[in-house]
Amino acid sequence: MTADTTWATPARILIVDDEPLNIQVLAEALGDDYDVRFTTRADEVTTLACRLPLDLILLDLVMPGRHGLEVLAELRAEAVCRDVPVIIVTAMNELDNEEAGLNAGAVDYITKPISPAIVRARVRTHVELKRQRDQLAQLAEIDGLTGIANRRRFDRELQLRWHAAQRHGDTLCLMLGDVDHFKQYNDHFGHGPGDQCLKHVAAALAQGAARTDDLVARYGGEEFAVISRAEDSAAQAQRMLSAIAELQLPHPLSSAGPYVSLSLGVLDVRPRPELSIDAALAAVDTLLYQAKRQGRRQAMLRHYDHDAITPLRAGG
Ligand SMILES: [Mg+2]
Repeated sequence: MTADTTWATPARILIVDDEPLNIQVLAEALGDDYDVRFTTRADEVTTLACRLPLDLILLDLVMPGRHGLEVLAELRAEAVCRDVPVIIVTAMNELDNEEAGLNAGAVDYITKPISPAIVRARVRTHVELKRQRDQLAQLAEIDGLTGIANRRRFDRELQLRWHAAQRHGDTLCLMLGDVDHFKQYNDHFGHGPGDQCLKHVAAALAQGAARTDDLVARYGGEEFAVISRAEDSAAQAQRMLSAIAELQLPHPLSSAGPYVSLSLGVLDVRPRPELSIDAALAAVDTLLYQAKRQGRRQAMLRHYDHDAITPLRAGG
């Protein structure tokens, strides 16, 4: 069994060449193992690479309008596609270009006229390396105890989503939650059951998230954070509180009720240049503090641009 068949989805490869015939020859060399896309236009490579998740780019160097090395520099300047490996495809008489390409960040080169066996071997190697890197990067962003996203992933995603929302004029919903009297829970039951409690809470929060692109992360200790679209923030917060209430994990030392519960700050916010992510997080943190001060086991919801705060309880 080759590595190709163990991948959940075929690797996606973009072939860039101003000559359609060259694209055809490369595509035929790759066969059916890959999801092959192509373009003859050097000026649209970066846009395509940012839009499609790609596993590899085969890049011609000599193209009208824009040289392959310029395209390579463009790709390296974009955070979204900076890490997509690029193999440059050059004619035999462009050896200087190969060196320049490798110096500019290409992972390898192939010379034209191409040998299908060499194309397949190099592509397979670099796609495997790319996928291994992706796997390691994913593992580094998972919380070891609960299996949900960790703080590092949360911080990275918040940066990306904040700037995307700013571009599109969207409103985000940010939540910070804290397990009520968790220190007393640990003191009473011990750290093993304390860890189990955090696992259950993480799973309940993930279950309460409505959409597949909602991000639920362990923010630290017994703190959790959520990023979602601000479409039904109140309902979402109530679902999360309900999911935790339904766990019915006994907590004899809690002032908030007989079971493990959560206090939650919920902020709808429209990102814009004059507002920092830290300011938004500080505002969510204040709401969380208010939920605690009002007796815990509840959420406090506010829109950043308005003063009114809505208290929310499980179920609604
Ligand atoms: Mg060309």
